[in-house]
Formats: sequence, structure tokens, C-alpha cells
Amino acid sequence: MVDKKCNIYQEDKFLSSFEFRIEESSFMPFSCILQSLGKNIIWILIINLILDPVNVMVVMFYFTKLINNAFVILCWVLITVIIIISYWIGLPYWWNKSPVITICLLIFGNWLMINCIFHYYMGIICDPGHPPEGVFIEEVASVCKKCIQPKPHRTHHCSICNVCILQMDHHCPWLNNCVGHFNRRYFLMFMVYIEISVLFLITFGIEIAYVELWLNYNATDDDTELYGYPVEVNIFLPQEKWIMKPTTSEASGVISEEKYKSLRRKAILFAALICLGVAIAIGTLLHRHCKMISRGETSIEKHINTSERKKFSEKNEVYLNPYDFGKYRNWIIFLGIHNNSKRSWRHILFPSAHKPFGDGIIWPTIYSTESEWKNFFHPKY
Ligand SMILES: [Zn+2]
Ligand SMILES: [Zn+2]
Repeated sequence: MVDKKCNIYQEDKFLSSFEFRIEESSFMPFSCILQSLGKNIIWILIINLILDPVNVMVVMFYFTKLINNAFVILCWVLITVIIIISYWIGLPYWWNKSPVITICLLIFGNWLMINCIFHYYMGIICDPGHPPEGVFIEEVASVCKKCIQPKPHRTHHCSICNVCILQMDHHCPWLNNCVGHFNRRYFLMFMVYIEISVLFLITFGIEIAYVELWLNYNATDDDTELYGYPVEVNIFLPQEKWIMKPTTSEASGVISEEKYKSLRRKAILFAALICLGVAIAIGTLLHRHCKMISRGETSIEKHINTSERKKFSEKNEVYLNPYDFGKYRNWIIFLGIHNNSKRSWRHILFPSAHKPFGDGIIWPTIYSTESEWKNFFHPKY
């Protein structure tokens, strides 16, 4: 039904389609605004673009993507800045104290740095995994209402990526990617190495911070030495001209040295705040994720399992998580290492792009037989 008041547009089929949409969307107050605008088609188009929920969703989608990209850039910038500060201030300080300790710190620090960068990069670029299209899936949990596709067990739909993710954990803005079956290990290992790195920097940087921010800073205030620049007194001149001003080069030298010291202090303070903040935030998150992995659940499954446990306990029954195989096996599955797979701790301690066990579609449960487990632990490189 078309509003009578808008009949001026009836002859124009293009415009009448806009009116129809406005009517359909029940935006009556806005249709009145459109009338007042008369034949101003540009305004009609602009208002229609703003009011259309589809356009709003598209704008929101790109805005979210843009924000997430900003998070990733910020993370890379922070990592780079902290590395520069460590080499600029930390390395010379420890080298002056002990070259042997410095070499040990360099080896350990670079091992951490390589692991951090590798796992972060892989977390960003690695596809978390999606249910295959047009392929028969043996075991399906349900059908995704948004993708209109079969959803395997442990698969969930990400509203930001607008796609189903295998063994979905959560959508991570710091990775601008979903954390799922194929990149969950990279995400956790990145947190592990970042946490060790910031604790390493705090341990070996606390002395530098104490010296530069506390001792040297306070020494400047209580210094008994005279302030100013070296001067000469010329007694042959009138008394008001006895004190000679420092040369421009002397003055600029002192100023630039002060600026350099101030910059060093700011850099140390910045690194200290970032390291402390990251140590607390990542430490808390890491602890939470380690607990979930030990229980054989993802962040989403944690909520599902909690609610199921509650329902079962109300009926005086015990709920069992079908994917909880005990701490040891849960971690073996998560890390993708098993004696049969020829993967060892070397694949965890050093950058490794090995894939997790299974395809993320079919999962063994606590009721699986040994032969099913053998098939599961057969890795596909
Ligand atoms: Zn979906
Ligand atoms: Zn996502």
C-alpha cells in the first residue's frame, strides 16, 4: 500500500519503490519528512540509505573490521617499540655489567621474541576452519540458521566473520580473526610467550627502572653541584659584565643531553607500564584459557557446560563433558603432540606450523573406542 500523500512520485517507478520500502519499514514519521522535502531526490536517497537496516549493518560490519585492524596494528607497534627499547636501553646496561649474562639474556630474549612474532602472525593468518560446503558430513549437531548449512559438533557461528567456525572459541579483536580449531594453539602459545616475555623484561628491567627513574632522578634534585654552565670572569670589564654567557654550542650540547635523558626516562616508564599492564591482563586471560583446556572445553562450551551442569544437578544427576578426556590427554590433543605422531616438545618450544589432530568436524568423545582414538591421533601434515 502506498501513502496517498506521496502520490506525486507514483509515475516514477524508481521513486515509488523507495516509498514502498519506507511504508514497509513502518517509518511513518520519516515518510512525512520525505514529503516536506518534495522532489529533492538526493535527500531522499541519502535518508533512505541511512534508514535502511541493511546499509546500517554493512557500515557496522566495515567499522568493526576497521577497528579490529587498528587493534592488530596497535599490537604490532607495541611489540616493535618494546623490542627497540629493550635493545636501546637494556642491552648496553647489561653489557656494561656482565657480557656473559648479556649473551645468555640475548639468546633467551630472542628465542622469546621469535616465538611471540611467529605465533601472533600465525594466529592472524591461519584460517580457524569452516564446515565444508557441498560435502556430506556424517555427524551433525544442528543446522546454522544464518549460513543455512549443517553444523558439526563444537561448531558455532561467528556474527562478526558471519561464518561458521569449527571448534569456535571466540572472535579475537587482537588477531582480527576467529579463534577456532586450526589456530587455537597459536593463540594460546602467543599468550604464553608474551607472558614469559613481559615477566622476563620486568625481571631484568626493574633494576634499570630503579636506577634511571629513582636514583638518577632524585640525584638531580639533591645535587650539591652548582647549576649552570662553566663561566669566566673578566675583571677588566665593568662588574655587570663579569659573567660571560656560554657559547651556543655548549648550551645546545647540555640541552640535547637533558632531552636524551628525559627521552630515556619516558621510554623506560612507557615500557614498564606496558609490561605491567600486559602481564596482569594476559596472565589473567591465560590462566582462564589453561583451565578451560584442562577441562577439554572452549570459551563457548564453558558456558554451555556450566548451564548443563546446573540443569543436571537440579535433577540430581551428574553431567559429563563428552570432550573431557582428563588433563593430560586434553593438553596432548590441544598441543597436537603425541608419540604416534612423531611430534614432541620441540614442536612447542620452537615455531612449528603442525596442524591439530582431527579435521575439526568429527570428534572423539569419552565413549569412543581405542580404534577411533588411533585414527584421531594419526596426523595429517
Ligand atoms: Zn553459520
Ligand atoms: Zn569471527
